[in-house]
Amino acid sequence: MSASVIAMVALLRPIARSRRPDPAITQPPARQPPEPAPAVDVKETRDPFSYSRRPTREIAIGEIKLGGENLVRVCVTQAAMETLAGQRSQLGDMQPELIYEKAKVVELDPLRDDFGKVGDHTLVAVKDGVGLSPIVAYRILAAKLDARGCQAPILLKDVLDDCSRAHEAPEPLAGMLNAATMIGAMLCDGIGDAVLVRGERDALAGLRLAYNILQACGSRSFKTEYVACPSCGRTLFNLQTVTARIKARTSHLKGVKIAVMGCIVNGPGEMADADFGYVGGAPGKVNLYVGKTAVKFNIPEAEAVDRLVDLIREHGKWTDPAR
Ligand code: SF4
Repeated sequence: MSASVIAMVALLRPIARSRRPDPAITQPPARQPPEPAPAVDVKETRDPFSYSRRPTREIAIGEIKLGGENLVRVCVTQAAMETLAGQRSQLGDMQPELIYEKAKVVELDPLRDDFGKVGDHTLVAVKDGVGLSPIVAYRILAAKLDARGCQAPILLKDVLDDCSRAHEAPEPLAGMLNAATMIGAMLCDGIGDAVLVRGERDALAGLRLAYNILQACGSRSFKTEYVACPSCGRTLFNLQTVTARIKARTSHLKGVKIAVMGCIVNGPGEMADADFGYVGGAPGKVNLYVGKTAVKFNIPEAEAVDRLVDLIREHGKWTDPAR
């Protein structure tokens, strides 16, 4: 990105503009030359080849702390909060933590606004309607803040226009893919201290999606995580059945990551940072792993799930499921 943020802005600008058709328009509009984006002079301050979370100051909004080393927080709109009000007791760990309209967010156009008034203890976000893809806009915002030595925490949005009116929100799959792409990319850049998903029609779906994006990016864990290989000609057991059996026994283990891999040829390499691994060792036989180390070999498949549970227990990660 360092070579030319300007070029990237120019490239992605048409994507941002074409996301949703205006129902009032019945005839194709006359072609207008695109508005030139103002020149931006920002230097890349982050290494695109290695992950590090952007350093920010811890701030408190009500009882919630964010920024610094705190968890990436989940923000909802006031309207979503009102919809969710009757369901809070069923949401478990997926609670909304901030209300956008009450969080005193300072919104900035990263191309045009003066950053002079932004202090370290301000929660900042990109303003709606800036005509940029969220990824581009937030990268410029973060680079400009960093260049000023400002450690203000950042609230990430999945869309940069007002999707709060449900009838205008995109189709569920489109909203999910857009949010995962936009917010996921920024979190993987190390940018973001709170997230706001507005591109879902349903408030509960938006809240779930926000938490699932955080879990998928490794930013925050609120449930058991499973990594299963896609299966191929080498797979030594029925991957779907076995994964379902393992999930049925372990899905209450919040924060534990379990890999289910069909073979020892490539399985251990694909397990990444799983805590425990269930890997096909030979036909009808399973090897169990702790991290990337094989610790139990050639366990008959019929008893392998029980032995996996034993292993999780031995390593202090087991809790009994709630009744
Ligand atoms: S881990 Fe083994 S069985 Fe699974 S997809 Fe890779 S090679 Fe195939």
